[in-house]
Parts: sequence; C-alpha cells; structure tokens
Amino acid sequence: MLCGVFPQDHYLTQYLRSHALFALIFMLCHVSRSLGEDPVSGSRAKYLILVTLDGVRGDEMFGGMDLETLKASSEGKDVRDQEVYQRFWASTPEERRLNLMPFFWGTLMKQHGFILGHRQKGSIVQLRNRHRFSYPGYAEILTGRARDRIIKSNEKVRNPSPTLLEFLKSEWQLKFQEVAAFASWETMDFIVQQQKGAIYSNAGHQTYISRDPVMRWLSKAQFQTRSPWDSVRHDYYTFTFAMDYVQHRSPRVLYLALGETDDWAHDGRYDRVLQALHQSDQYLRVLWEYYQSRAETKGRTCFVMTTDHGRGGNPYNWMHHNDKLEESQYTWLSVACPGLTRRGELMEHPPVFAEQIAATTAMLMGLNYVEKHPNAGKSIPFLNSVP
Ligand SMILES: [Zn+2]
Repeated sequence: MLCGVFPQDHYLTQYLRSHALFALIFMLCHVSRSLGEDPVSGSRAKYLILVTLDGVRGDEMFGGMDLETLKASSEGKDVRDQEVYQRFWASTPEERRLNLMPFFWGTLMKQHGFILGHRQKGSIVQLRNRHRFSYPGYAEILTGRARDRIIKSNEKVRNPSPTLLEFLKSEWQLKFQEVAAFASWETMDFIVQQQKGAIYSNAGHQTYISRDPVMRWLSKAQFQTRSPWDSVRHDYYTFTFAMDYVQHRSPRVLYLALGETDDWAHDGRYDRVLQALHQSDQYLRVLWEYYQSRAETKGRTCFVMTTDHGRGGNPYNWMHHNDKLEESQYTWLSVACPGLTRRGELMEHPPVFAEQIAATTAMLMGLNYVEKHPNAGKSIPFLNSVP
C-alpha cells in the first residue's frame, strides 16, 4: 500500500529521490511489483466501469460479421437482401468489426485502451472453469476463482464467494448505493454479491425507482414489452436505468451486464446477435462520453469489458456453448485505464485466464485483491509492457 502513496509530481519525486530512505522503499516497491501482485503505484483511477457482453465470441469482436454464419442461419434467403449484410459487411475483418462496433474499434481501442483475446494473433484469454456457461463464467470473473464443483448451474442461488464489487466497497468504505450493478439477466442479482443487499443491484424484469418521471414510465414499460426470454429483459432498459443511476448517484463502481447477444444466439438469430452487439457499442459510447464529459470522472475512470464464455466456432454450432464444445472456453478482455499506454490488440503473450480479471481490475484501481483472496487468480503482469 505504501507504494501507492508516493507523489506523482516530477520535481517532488526528484527531490525525494535524493533521500536514501526513499530510494530503499522505491526499490522494495519495484521488487514486489515485479512479483506481479503489487498495486499500480499511484493509480489515477477513482471510478470503475465494468461491462460484460454475454456470450460474445472472439469471431465477431475481432472479425465483425461472419458471412458463412449469416448464410447458414438465413434459411436459403439471399444474404445480400438482409439489412445486417448491407450494414456490416466489408471485405476485410478490420473494416467489418469497425462497421459492427464503430465506437469500440474506431475510438476506444485507437485512443484509450486495448484488447486481449485475438487467438490468430497469439493472444489467448480463456475460462478456468470447465462448465463454459454463464453463472460459472460470471462467478469466475467477479470472484477470481473457478469453483466447478460448487457452481455448476444457472439456478438462482447466492454466490458462495464474496465478489470484486464487495471487495471494492469494503476497501473504499463505500455506501451500498456507491457500488451498482445493472443486469439484463435476473440471476445476476445472485451472482454479483455474496451478501444480499451489500451493493445496489437491479437485474432482470425488476422495477427501477427514480425521481425522473420518464424512468418511472420506462420501468413500467419493461413489463409490457417482454423479451422472448422469461429471465432476461431487453438491454435497452438495463442500459437506460444504469445511465439514469449514474447521472443521479455518481457511483464509484458501475457494473453493466448486457445479455441479449447470448439469448439471440441460442435462438439461432445471427442477425439479431449482430444488431444487439452493434447496439451495445452505442451504449458504450454514451457511457464513455458521459464519464469523459465530467471533470470529476474524466481521466479518472477505468473501463474493463469482457464476456462470460465463448461459443462454438463454426456456422453450425455457433449457437451453443458447453463443457464439451471446443472454443466455448475462449473469451476476450478489454481495458481502458488512465496510466495504461498500450492501444489496440495485444499480441503474442502468455495465456490469460478469466480468473485473473478480478485481481487485475483491483490492481488497476490501486488495490491488491489476492492479499485478501489468496485463492484468486493473480493479476496480469504485462499490461503495460511487452511480456
Ligand atoms: Zn448462453
């Protein structure tokens, strides 16, 4: 922790550097940091936005729309007549992903952050859990552990381990409303916190209470515009309520868990998967621009985005994901944080596991997660340098 209190001011640092005690502690900090578990020194990040996009494959994240998958799911119709083809198709993967996620690839990855998980470029992010479906995936991300024998279904049972969100609340001594989770899938309420009521949570078709009359109207509307799935509401409501909350409550930690991308995939609607991912990208833009527009959060917000599992990798099994389906273990991880200078796709690095995301996120916020949770995966040691 001592390492985090050193001043960032250049002249003061030079002055202090001339003192032997400083030099000794400085050296010790560097030694412990090289072991991979020390917090980022003097992290400027004060706010955290964690986003998950349920079951989004690397294929679409890195390559945009896949033509063979669209053809296979089009029931013989000419793909050229389809809106998604006209909007998202291009001849190169770089152009296609830019068409699909213009904010993510055109702004966020160019100017602010980077992404891991493009396997063709030697970058692997994978699940430690063997189940390869949602609850185990989210639990691994949020607690830093795969607990395969305990977490083995998507049923609404309370997370047996404390989460990163609860850790941040405790470390920063926040009130419950300062750590907020908004999710489209109702089971997320059970996953995001071990202690019910520890943090603010609004998940699935759930009433959202706001001072804003439009939000109160939308909160009612969510029950009258049901999605095709009993346990998942439309992402539009999840995002809109989250934005209202951010504007009125300024939480230090926001977790936004969008879900439609997975559900449309299970239904075999590749066109809707693409539309949902494109829509998610627009949500990210609004969220990011809001945080950058305020003096309090501009340049002090850390953004972390990932997914809970992959899916089958060919045009005939992309709808599914399970313990036996190869490629559904592969995910991706994107980070945009003050102080991290790498941009775009990371390539050729040691494999990363989803169990490392909790400790990595904590490290980016200047905290040591593994110290409190010794069984959790360690933070990724090479985010700011070539491994
Ligand atoms: Zn699924």
